[in-house]
Amino acid sequence: MPELPEVQTTVNFLRNKIIGLKIVDFWADKEKPIRQAGGAAKFKKMVVGAKIKSVWRRAKYIVVDLEGPYTIFIHQKISGHLLYGKWQQLTVDNKHLTDRYGQRSDEEWISKEGGPLKNDRKNQYIRLIFFLSNGYQLALSDLRRFGRVILVKDDKLTDVKELKGLGPEPFDLSLLQFKKLFRKSFGGARDKRGKLKPVLMDQTFVAGIGNIYADEILWEAGLHPLSRVEHLLTYEIEKIYRAMIKILKKAVELRGSSMDDYRLPSGEMGRAQLYHRAYQKTGDKCAKHDGGVIERIKIGQRSAHFCPKHQVLK
Ligand SMILES: [Zn+2]
Repeated sequence: MPELPEVQTTVNFLRNKIIGLKIVDFWADKEKPIRQAGGAAKFKKMVVGAKIKSVWRRAKYIVVDLEGPYTIFIHQKISGHLLYGKWQQLTVDNKHLTDRYGQRSDEEWISKEGGPLKNDRKNQYIRLIFFLSNGYQLALSDLRRFGRVILVKDDKLTDVKELKGLGPEPFDLSLLQFKKLFRKSFGGARDKRGKLKPVLMDQTFVAGIGNIYADEILWEAGLHPLSRVEHLLTYEIEKIYRAMIKILKKAVELRGSSMDDYRLPSGEMGRAQLYHRAYQKTGDKCAKHDGGVIERIKIGQRSAHFCPKHQVLK
C-alpha cells in the first residue's frame, strides 16, 4: 500500500501538472469506483467544470481541492495509483491496439502514448478518468478495486473517517516534539504502550508510516520491532527520529517504492525499493556487515523484517 513517500511523490508530480486546469469531463467504469451516495453520476455533475486549486497529502491520502465548495478525497488503498496521460477507449474499430494480455472488455482504455502507461500491466486497470482542459487525463488504475474516491464539501473534510484522529506528519515534527509524543503516549486515551513496530505504524501516533518504512526505520535505528515502547531510552527515541526523517526523505527523493502496484503518475517505477535493507530481505546478509542475516517474524496479522545482530530485543 502506498505510504508517505509514494503518496508525496504522486502529489509532487500532480502539482506540476494539474493545478489551474479545469475538469472538462469524467468517466467511471460499471463497477462503481465512486464509493458514496449518488455514485459516479452525481460525482460527475459536481466536478465537471470545476478548476483544480491545489493538491496535497495528509498521511497516506491525497486531497484535490477544487474551486468552489468541493474537495476530492482519494485513498488509493492496496493497488490504486493515480496516472497522468492520454488514453483512448477500446472500440470495435481499434481493437487492433491490443493485446498481449488476452481478452479485454469494451470498457477498457489504452494509453495513446507508448512507455509504461501502455506497457506496464500495473497501469492498465483504469477505473475512472478525469478529463482535463489541457487535453490530458488523470486516471485511477486499481487492480483490486479497494481505492476510495469521494467528493466532500470543503468544510466537511475533517469529518472524513480516514482523516479523523490522525497523528502529526513526520516532517512537521521536531526532535523535541517527537520525544514528547512518546512520553505523552503513555496512559490516557492515546496510550501507545506496546510493541514498537505497530506503534510506528499507528496512524493516530504518527501519520504516513506503514509496513515497508517501519521495517526500514527500525533497521536504520538499530531497534528490534518488538521493543516495548514504554521502555525506550531517550537516546533510542532520538535514533528512531533521525532514522525516520532520513529514511522517509530518501524514499521521497527516490520517488517511492515500486514493490507491487505503486507507480508514479507517469507510469514509471520508483526506486526506493533498490535501497531497502530489511523489508522483504529475509535471508540476506545485513548491509551493516555485522554478520547478521535478516529474519522475518510475525506480529499479529503482519510481519516484521530485522537483523538479529544489531536489532537486539532487550
Ligand atoms: Zn545488522
